[in-house]
Amino acid sequence: MGEFELIRTYLSDLGVRRADVGLDVGDDCALLRVPPGLELAVSIDTLVAGVHFFADCDPVALGHKSLAVGLSDLAAMGAEPAWATLALTLPDVDRDWLAGFARGLDALAREHGLRLVGGDTTRGPLTISVQVHGLVPRGEALRRSGARPGDLICVSGNLGAAALALRQLLRGERPEAGLRARLERPMPRIALGQALRGLASAAIDISDGLAGDLGHILAASGVGATVELGRLPLARQVAEVVAASGGDWALPLGGGDDYELCFTLPSEHAPLLSALARRVGCPLARIGVIESDQVQRWRLPDGMDWQGSPMGFDHFARQP
Ligand code: ADP
Ligand code: MG
Repeated sequence: MGEFELIRTYLSDLGVRRADVGLDVGDDCALLRVPPGLELAVSIDTLVAGVHFFADCDPVALGHKSLAVGLSDLAAMGAEPAWATLALTLPDVDRDWLAGFARGLDALAREHGLRLVGGDTTRGPLTISVQVHGLVPRGEALRRSGARPGDLICVSGNLGAAALALRQLLRGERPEAGLRARLERPMPRIALGQALRGLASAAIDISDGLAGDLGHILAASGVGATVELGRLPLARQVAEVVAASGGDWALPLGGGDDYELCFTLPSEHAPLLSALARRVGCPLARIGVIESDQVQRWRLPDGMDWQGSPMGFDHFARQP
């Protein structure tokens, strides 16, 4: 099977048809129309076999996750998903793998009304880059830089489950199905991101651990934070690991792949939080407050500050 037959067979009709796509997969470029009054939000993520996923993992889940990580960035900006492009580097043509990958990507694209409008296909070590394009009313995108002292710090869902599943897989253990799904099939918080427009003062998606990603909000906003560790939303299995370790919070604070949103909320909006959680269908937890001195504190339930190291994943930080 040649490159063009491969593209035609597996990659040319993924996601929904959209009226704003002037030209789809098949020409030198896609032609896309951004409606007046909207801005285009663009982000690209690369997944490398052996670095971001196990090379023999389920292709359907991989198709899902390849798009989900980009959608999570759109969620963090409050953007509505519209289009994606896909750069696929494959070691060989495996029809079953391609069909599964396309199916996983297609299902998530349909769920969010997105169209795959183009890409690039090459031969080499298995690598997947997805660029996502979303639309957001001009001037209304959520940024990292708007947090102010006194704002509440909030997170969606719960933290550390994907990192725990990964830890268990690396040890040769079999994670429970629910835990494994958190690693392999993250659900980007698209509805929440859009609902936070006009409410949140800053937002980020948690891909590299809460500590590092909240740190990006603090640095961009020139502020600090106190986070109450007892308020962190944790899955049962993650809470058990923290308890069994005698209070090592590194898993929920530094583990990657949560794809939840961390956002700051001016305190006058605090009463809206529970109605917001009901409306978007995901739990929202208040975990702390923004401070004016540029220090990040992790407060233990007994009122002392935790002195451990919560840092998240950085591809270049641990080179030999
Ligand atoms: P060109 O050589 O002009 O860059 P290509 O031969 O790379 O074009 O691609 C042909 C068409 O197929 C283009 O419309 C391109 O966007 C699309 N395409 C190529 N690879 C992919 C892919 N992995 N996913 C979706 N569309 C793809
Ligand atoms: Mg060309």
